[in-house]
Amino acid sequence: MVEEKQYKCPKCKDTGKVMEKNGEIHTCFDCLVAGRLDAHITEIKDTNIKI
Ligand SMILES: [Zn+2]
Repeated sequence: MVEEKQYKCPKCKDTGKVMEKNGEIHTCFDCLVAGRLDAHITEIKDTNIKI
């Protein structure tokens, strides 16, 4: 059985952040437009994020 969680956003797994293969972290655009990021965005504001 495959471990499959039901994320609202499979892209970022509801973290609001997406890690690229090069290690770059940016805000999940899908969540941003859906308005799911309000709780997450403050904690990643200091980091090197690109929207
Ligand atoms: Zn997302």
